[in-house]
Amino acid sequence: MRAIHWFRSDLRIGDNTALAAACRRADALAPVFVLDDALLKAHRDAHPRLRFLHACLRDLAAALEAAGSRLIVLRGAPHRCLPALARTCKASLVTWNRDYGPYAKRRDRAVRDALERDGVEVGTYKDRVVFEGGEIRSTQGGTYSAYNHFRRAWWRRFQADAPRPVPASSLPAGIPEAPADALPELPELRGRGPRADVTDVPRAGAAPARERLDAFLGAAAHRYHVDRDRPDVAGTSRLSPYLRFGAISVGECMRAGLALAAAESTAEEGVRTWIDELVWREFYHAILDAYPRVLDGAFRETYDALEWDDDADRLQAWQAGMTGYPIVDAGMRELAATGWMHNRVRMIVASFLTKDLHIDWRTGERWFMRRLVDGDPASNNGGWQWAASTGTDAQPYFRIFNPTSQGERFDPGGEYVRRWVPELEGLPGKAVHRPWTAPLESRAYPAPIVDHPRERAVALARFRAARDGGG
Ligand code: FAD
Repeated sequence: MRAIHWFRSDLRIGDNTALAAACRRADALAPVFVLDDALLKAHRDAHPRLRFLHACLRDLAAALEAAGSRLIVLRGAPHRCLPALARTCKASLVTWNRDYGPYAKRRDRAVRDALERDGVEVGTYKDRVVFEGGEIRSTQGGTYSAYNHFRRAWWRRFQADAPRPVPASSLPAGIPEAPADALPELPELRGRGPRADVTDVPRAGAAPARERLDAFLGAAAHRYHVDRDRPDVAGTSRLSPYLRFGAISVGECMRAGLALAAAESTAEEGVRTWIDELVWREFYHAILDAYPRVLDGAFRETYDALEWDDDADRLQAWQAGMTGYPIVDAGMRELAATGWMHNRVRMIVASFLTKDLHIDWRTGERWFMRRLVDGDPASNNGGWQWAASTGTDAQPYFRIFNPTSQGERFDPGGEYVRRWVPELEGLPGKAVHRPWTAPLESRAYPAPIVDHPRERAVALARFRAARDGGG
């Protein structure tokens, strides 16, 4: 049998459920990636992520070649190019791993319908998450809307039914009629001149992903439960871009973590806390699957009535890391320089945008999707709605982050801020979090653009108005 495996967010050969299923049944295989015009148009400004994706594809192409196969890269609408490829290759099976966002589900239905009309069998598999939303149900049969309930049910299910690694299988021969084009450059990334993206994106591909996992488990994992909130410490795995594009499987990460915890009891608490974070990822995929409307509005619909400001100057100061609040500015500059930001700081800058600047969380969500290498609709939307207090088990609206005390608490020696805000490097220790109290040598750093206590009161009043107005 001849088969096609359609790579999407699973850019690896090992531990790949749908690819392995195709390999088991086919004696000739065409592995394909489609540069989807609609997605490229929607994300044409997301240069750091597009560059990382392109580099992951190069890595995947090299890995397939080393295994005697060849990656086919097509450009266009998947519901047109895939049936055409199946006809050219005389393939009778097409496999892919499932995605959960509304666009992906619509697209996949259209591809399936077109293939089935041509008599081609479609095989879809769970791979992006350990458990899909439909597998973690409340006793009433619905999707949990509180993370803690989801997490408990998730662990119960995991203990009863931990998924096994996908058995390795060799790649079948290629299909001679398949197109032979090399991986094209992305016009979206071409010809930008002085405006070319200079974000220092991480090394892409399966080998760097595994190196990161090994490095994390060899050191930081032991203290993850203590250090994970500290942006001044290399306390987290930084695997998010690799998980986003599937350069490593979430199952492999979990199994490797649990093997470490079983071998070294000192790693148990750290690993367990880390897996709880991976479960947040599963939770947000389940939420997006069940409630696609969250991409347009508040999960708690009452808060669709919130009043937001449209202040271009303040938004620009936030984007540029020039708000005068050092921890916020450090985070936004880390994002601009690396395409990544520490989770604690993501929460702080998101709270600042929504509750101090009163700018709609969707504006911040869009900015993050443009700048983040790991930008993922499910986790990004979940994170923004959590910070804006509009989401699933969002932080209650009356607990508003104070950017100064958050900085003092989570960057106690000020190293993180001094790394990203060089104007403040002359300020010692935690004094860096209150530059307005110190005589500054450099006047280049701005005074705070808003008064936190005042804006906190404004935010509280607006939340109360939305809640009371919403009945
Ligand atoms: P680790 O601490 O090592 O955690 C391991 C993995 O668990 C991560 O790689 C990630 O896949 C997952 N994870 C950890 N925390 C979360 C979380 N809170 N929600 C969902 N998954 C989590 N994460 C993304 O992958 N893409 C996004 O677009 C994204 N946007 C965010 C926006 C906001 C406003 C906030 C508050 C959080 C966002 N996150 C997002 C979650 C989190 O910040 C990142 O996953 C994490 O910082 C990645 O760093 P790490 O790989 O070192 O994480």
